[in-house]
Amino acid sequence: MFFNALNSFVVNKVVQNNRFPLWAIIALGSTALAITVSNRDRLDEKAELSQGVSQNWPFEPLPYISEQNKKFVPVSPANEAIQVEVESGESLSLIFQKVGLSDVELLNILSLNKDSEKLKNLKPGQKIKFEVSDNLLQKLVVEITNLESLIFSRQGKSFSMKREAVKPDTIIVAAGTELETSLYMDGKKIGLSDSVIMQLTAIFAWDIDFSQNIRIGDRFKIIYEKLEIKGEYYKTGRILAAEFINQANRYTAFLNIDDNGNNSYYTEKGHALQKTFLRNPVDLVRVSSRFNLKRKHPILNRIRAHKGVDYAAPIGTPIRATADGQVKYLGVKGGYGSTIELQHGGKYTTLYAHLSDYAKDLKIGSKVTQGQIIGYVGKSGLATGPHLHYEFRVNGEHRDPLTVKLPAERSINIKYKTAFEKRTSMLLSLLNHSKAHDTQETRKITQTIIRLYSKR
Ligand SMILES: [Zn+2]
Repeated sequence: MFFNALNSFVVNKVVQNNRFPLWAIIALGSTALAITVSNRDRLDEKAELSQGVSQNWPFEPLPYISEQNKKFVPVSPANEAIQVEVESGESLSLIFQKVGLSDVELLNILSLNKDSEKLKNLKPGQKIKFEVSDNLLQKLVVEITNLESLIFSRQGKSFSMKREAVKPDTIIVAAGTELETSLYMDGKKIGLSDSVIMQLTAIFAWDIDFSQNIRIGDRFKIIYEKLEIKGEYYKTGRILAAEFINQANRYTAFLNIDDNGNNSYYTEKGHALQKTFLRNPVDLVRVSSRFNLKRKHPILNRIRAHKGVDYAAPIGTPIRATADGQVKYLGVKGGYGSTIELQHGGKYTTLYAHLSDYAKDLKIGSKVTQGQIIGYVGKSGLATGPHLHYEFRVNGEHRDPLTVKLPAERSINIKYKTAFEKRTSMLLSLLNHSKAHDTQETRKITQTIIRLYSKR
């Protein structure tokens, strides 16, 4: 119950250019949640919203063409702005007619450049804004996607065009719940998107076995980004912080973004959640065949990609798990012979083939730790001699095990440490709020967090 209160509390919204702070209470669709906002706050928010719109969006609230006037809307000689929303089957030519503008203007615009070609295929719901004065079209703003508009401005008898990119606003949202059915169902119940649920399982996949060890009563809290365009939901962003209590074990994760833009998660003490890999699964042996996408297969005698590395070694040489993980497959697998496949976190798998034997007691679902002996070199399957065939996959794709960039960090790099600690202490203070509320303090914190993360 305690955590249900956290179902959703605010949090904060800052328009990316930071010209003004804007905040709102975000309900995540939970029915159980009561949110209170004072009227004064609502008014403030409204005022700030319209201010934001005018600064960040070419589409100011303008009168739409009403149903009755759809056929023909005369444009008065006075300066006027009209906004229309494209309806099913409408072409730009039809819309120009409706607004009372001549085909000549339209042709001028359509022939301007390649981008204006995009105007030939309008989709229902797209917004178009006309600014007219002295019976002449002065400015045409066409929303191409949620994030991109084309702006045509009159230059004498013709038009110039510029592209305007809209940057979504970031909002920070907190959510959490106690599991009653499944992570997916309970996550959905409090309004989490599939993407956020997947991120959550990927973040903790090294420590928590989501397929077998999740229990009713486990609970989690997360702080994540929601992106909005013009006050409307656009999509969810990254999880910035998470806490998962799995059968009385507490796990935490805080996002760090390195200079190359890579996202990694660390515990509050700065330990990497993603575990490291050993480069080789067998010791003191010879690499007998490298990763090669055009190798001639020694037995099949035809070109067949070699998507792994072969280590020549005597039968019975022990094979080690290259990282902490879980047995995903154990058994005979065609030409691979006796094979073990391990899952490491959400992203990585390794495969060990042509084994002579498996480690005792190892079965599908077993947990293994880095360096643990999982089996022994052999020549089962399609093998010319005793060797270990080893594969490494990232998100299902084969990578060369000898050169793939392995997650090697055990702790956060010293150069990010100070900034990481600063953000983490703020995120922790948000995670530690036990119930829904929006105070000056949380607003300030979330604004700072958004700013810190948006720098990258
Ligand atoms: Zn091989």
